[in-house]
Amino acid sequence: ARKYIVKKYFQGLPKKTDYEFVEQELPPLKDGEILAKAEWISVDPYMRAYNPQQKLPYDQISFQVASVVESKNADYPVGSRIVSIRGWVDYTVIDPKTEQRFYKLPNLDGLSPSLGIGAVGMPGVTAYYGFLDLCKPKAGETVVVTGAAGAVGSLVGQIAKIKGCRVIGFAGSDDKVKWLEQELGFDKAFNYKTVDAAKALKEAAPKGVDCYFDNVGGELSSIIINQMNLLGRVSVCGSISAYNEDPRQLPKATIIQPAIVSKQLKVEGFLVWRWEDWNAAFVDLVKWIKSGQLKTQEHVTEGFDKLYDAFIGMLAGENKGKAVVKV
Ligand code: NDP
Repeated sequence: ARKYIVKKYFQGLPKKTDYEFVEQELPPLKDGEILAKAEWISVDPYMRAYNPQQKLPYDQISFQVASVVESKNADYPVGSRIVSIRGWVDYTVIDPKTEQRFYKLPNLDGLSPSLGIGAVGMPGVTAYYGFLDLCKPKAGETVVVTGAAGAVGSLVGQIAKIKGCRVIGFAGSDDKVKWLEQELGFDKAFNYKTVDAAKALKEAAPKGVDCYFDNVGGELSSIIINQMNLLGRVSVCGSISAYNEDPRQLPKATIIQPAIVSKQLKVEGFLVWRWEDWNAAFVDLVKWIKSGQLKTQEHVTEGFDKLYDAFIGMLAGENKGKAVVKV
């Protein structure tokens, strides 16, 4: 099997030399085990964010959809598909009894198996519960999403539309803005790199913001939180604007505590692992995709040897929707 090991702490953007590419013999299968061949491997922002907390060296984890190619477990016959968090590795021996964060690929009703690491996988569950449970959106409310054209953000905005909200998105290119407004049904979208965000938001949401789904943190989030309404809700999902920065050199962001106090906001961070029942989310997500209410887009990079490039490309904002690697 071939796999990527992280052997250095990233400084700024991860470098190719921070990884080691190794080949290893896999042991023969024991009773109960399966041999799985990766078909789709995910590249995600957390792989950058978690790096400083890991003990080196470590295997580059991420979700993957794999097909069972050998089996000593009747529950997982050859040809069936699984989702594991084994990451950047092409073949894995797995004991389903003891494997963590492992499940059979959910019923996708004929949709592409790649969705198992995207809209019907961890990012989908993040959008579904992270938005619905924390923001508790009501029809007619104004919702703002940052990282709006990404895997999680593009789903959050569309789920907000399904719930009858008015949705404003911020993303990093004019092409993404066009896609959000013309294809995904966002009421308004802005390129945060070129627009005066405070002014644009004032105009797009003159009555203020009720829910904010925060993927990016930093000054853009401060600007949005300062325009929230009384009893507004902020779901803090991530802070990608800071992932590649040296924490000691981060620019100062505007203080948001006065807005939180005076507007009595509820600001809550979460990790997707909080929710145990991912299947309930998968059922709704598949239903919405099948009915055309939820559009999914993938940014596909081909080749196991291109995982690093796909990862860096995603961090640089090359992706619309979910960045995935086809093995
Ligand atoms: P995306 O598909 O959104 O990809 C990352 C995107 O981030 C890029 O496309 C880029 O888009 C944007 N970006 C990069 N640098 C910056 C920057 N400096 N400022 C603003 N945006 C930037 O990734 P995901 O949807 O997988 O993840 C989105 C967020 O959700 C991340 O913060 C991630 O850590 C978080 N997350 C949290 C989870 C949880 O359990 N709390 C679970 C899953 C994800 P652009 O062109 O718009 O800049």
